[in-house]
Amino acid sequence: MRNLRKTILPLLLTFIIVPACTAVADGTATTALPAAPTGTPLPTITPSPTSPPVPAFPSYAIDLVLDYAGKTVEVSQEIVYPNHTGEPLASLVLVVEPNLWPACFTLKSLSVDGVETVNATLDGRRLEVPLAAPLAPGSVVELSLRYSLLLPRIEPDRDATYIRQQLFGHTYQQLNLVDWYPFIAPYVAGEGWLLHDENYYGEYMVYGSANFDVTVHFADPANPPVTAASGYGLPAGDGLRYRLEKGRVFALSFSPFFEVDERTVGGVAIRSYYFPYYALAGQKALEVVAQAFQVFSERFGPYPHRSLSIVQIETAFAMEYDGFFFMDTPIYGSYSGAETDFLPVTAAHETAHQWWFALVGNDQALEPWLDEAFATYSERLYYEWLEPERIPWWTAARLGNMADSTCPIDITIYGFYGFDCYYTPSVYLRGAVFLHDLRTRMGDEAFFAMLQDYAAAYGGQIATAADFFEQVRHHSNADLSDLIAAYFQNPH
Ligand SMILES: [Zn+2]
Repeated sequence: MRNLRKTILPLLLTFIIVPACTAVADGTATTALPAAPTGTPLPTITPSPTSPPVPAFPSYAIDLVLDYAGKTVEVSQEIVYPNHTGEPLASLVLVVEPNLWPACFTLKSLSVDGVETVNATLDGRRLEVPLAAPLAPGSVVELSLRYSLLLPRIEPDRDATYIRQQLFGHTYQQLNLVDWYPFIAPYVAGEGWLLHDENYYGEYMVYGSANFDVTVHFADPANPPVTAASGYGLPAGDGLRYRLEKGRVFALSFSPFFEVDERTVGGVAIRSYYFPYYALAGQKALEVVAQAFQVFSERFGPYPHRSLSIVQIETAFAMEYDGFFFMDTPIYGSYSGAETDFLPVTAAHETAHQWWFALVGNDQALEPWLDEAFATYSERLYYEWLEPERIPWWTAARLGNMADSTCPIDITIYGFYGFDCYYTPSVYLRGAVFLHDLRTRMGDEAFFAMLQDYAAAYGGQIATAADFFEQVRHHSNADLSDLIAAYFQNPH
């Protein structure tokens, strides 16, 4: 995410965001389904000799019918889940983010390996599905879900500090499906299912990688809205079919008003979706992203997908997804072509998240510096490559006096209340200062070789700070103890 306002309004935020969070929590729907039967443990399911190969990643085949005018979605979803946790699983836990909104999510049916299941429990955003027998490591289970979504309205956000961040739902001229389908939570061996508490700014979700096959139909196929999506789409009957291999998430945005510009870079279709009156900014966004895409492909490694969508959103927050990101209308609206505009900074930042968030995953809640510091520092790499004369401006405008800060960069998204060290300045900005100091200590050759190896090793995985520092030490014998002590509260 890119949020410049947070850097200047931390005190104000501490006073106004708690009620918004509370309101959402109060609205959380809880559905108590019949209790799971108890009794003697059943035998563990083990793969038979004739079982097909176990897939490396889960797969999600989703078929949806969107009633754009009615703001509803009917969904049929199949999940194939291979158990690579190394442990037998007595149940599966799915994350159902739409259930945070009252009356939004209605589960109509759920079956496991073809057998209708009635003993699942949906509590807030946690859907627990007991299995008839524990799923052995190396085995596969298939889930089928039918559900509907009644999309919430995205409240007007003239000033983002007065509302909870909301990207899911509809405005007058746009409908966004983000974190919209139930997905199986990551599982940490020895700890269990990874499902963090909600947070005002979002970005508390942790995603594994999966293969997506998403088909979109429209209730009124004669008048379909323009569709922006995470994957590469092709016509399929009266709808559109998208594929996204080894993706973190699958996002969609619809609007009958979108204008679209496209540019192909290295075989990847980059598309800019923007509203009328914002053509200048929408076209600039495409230009910057195409440039940043080339810079980061060179610096970090190849981009894994066939398309990338840049989508204007009527909120005051930019947000990254996989093969897709939102940039906020205020960024478009403030773009004038002046050298001090922040649109290129935001566009480069969100493009970098395709490597640091989407390709290399991380625990965004507990180790947010692993994607946000990297994306922020990538802004500098963009300017170094294309407009090195503008680095002093970027450093002053973006980092301010953070080189003088002593705040740790390894704070969590929950850690900025009550601290003098606020989330965005510490994690994003001082985090970028750290990466520059690390680069200076290692030298350019070792630093960029390390980043490439890190991206290659952890593409499709969830990396930790320990994984990152293992790569750093593999590429450099430099003593880092003073840097670690200066920037981190936890040892590495
Ligand atoms: Zn970001």
